[in-house]
Amino acid sequence: MIIVMGREVTDEQLGTVVNKLEAAGLTANISRGIERTVIGAIGDERKLTPEMFTPLPGVESAMHIAKQYKIVSRESHRENTIVDIGGIPVGGKQIQIIAGPCSVETQEQMDLSAKFVHEAGCRLMRGGAFKPRTSPYTFQGKGKEGLDIFRNAAAKYKLPIVTELMDARQLDTFLEYDVDVIQIGTRNMQNFDLLKEVGKINKPVILKRGMSATISEWLMAAEYIAAGGNHNIIFCERGIRTFETYYRNVLDVTAIPVLKKETHLPVIVDPSHAGGKAWMVPALSQAAIAAGADGLLVEMHPTPCEAWCDADQALTPDELKALMGTLGGIANAIGRSL
Ligand code: PEP
Ligand code: MN
Repeated sequence: MIIVMGREVTDEQLGTVVNKLEAAGLTANISRGIERTVIGAIGDERKLTPEMFTPLPGVESAMHIAKQYKIVSRESHRENTIVDIGGIPVGGKQIQIIAGPCSVETQEQMDLSAKFVHEAGCRLMRGGAFKPRTSPYTFQGKGKEGLDIFRNAAAKYKLPIVTELMDARQLDTFLEYDVDVIQIGTRNMQNFDLLKEVGKINKPVILKRGMSATISEWLMAAEYIAAGGNHNIIFCERGIRTFETYYRNVLDVTAIPVLKKETHLPVIVDPSHAGGKAWMVPALSQAAIAAGADGLLVEMHPTPCEAWCDADQALTPDELKALMGTLGGIANAIGRSL
């Protein structure tokens, strides 16, 4: 069972609910989000009824949730959640396109990238400073210096920044640079200790789908973050492994409506790591928006052939602009805007 408390909940009100749970032989997980505080009952739920809690002060609702994922489930919260990224809404009517290079390389490359992202009409920027590379002998990212370069470049256009966190030991550095959105990559989707750490802060998190993760494993990974009190989670479908080798991964478009049914949280799509080739990105992007995605995470490089990482899949600045020109019409056709 979960017991949902309002935004203004007091410690005394929380204490009353926890005492009642403990008296029934259960324990409580308290997840304090910005919008709501959710108390999860741990133990034999058959002893509980919603009516035991709904009359208590501060309680908004109490319900049994059949699914293993609770806070992130649509059952626990009917309306779509809008994640606010420095005033930019993700998950509402407006679709957000996050664009930028795979990796932070140089100040000049990032300054140019920020300019092109802004000129294309995108409101958020991506770029990796800590890179999860398949080979230890390839470029591993600029690290802390990369965050510095990224912050400088994005500041000129007031673009919120999205960048990947691979290790909880880097979290303080991410907070020091005030990273706007923390990306958890496909290879870390089930790094539960990392998920617990980002669950303790209130920064929005983009949780990429593990490359072989089922939908329910993905939802449970998000539940780890939510259980800690961070409810600002955005799911990102980035393609999964199958028997097909023609493209890098298979974009699972079906996951979009399925996630929209199962969770109230926003869902975005990364068409770049799905296709693995720039020429596939427009078609995959268009399909994602048509299927109900709340946004895209797209790789763009000022000169893709010179990119230090993922050169094949990066759009040129002109290609990004052209893509943006096609997405508005699709968004409008399904009652949304770009
Ligand atoms: C990335 O976004 O640069 C990245 C490494 O993505 P993924 O975790 O989806 O492979
Ligand atoms: Mn990449």
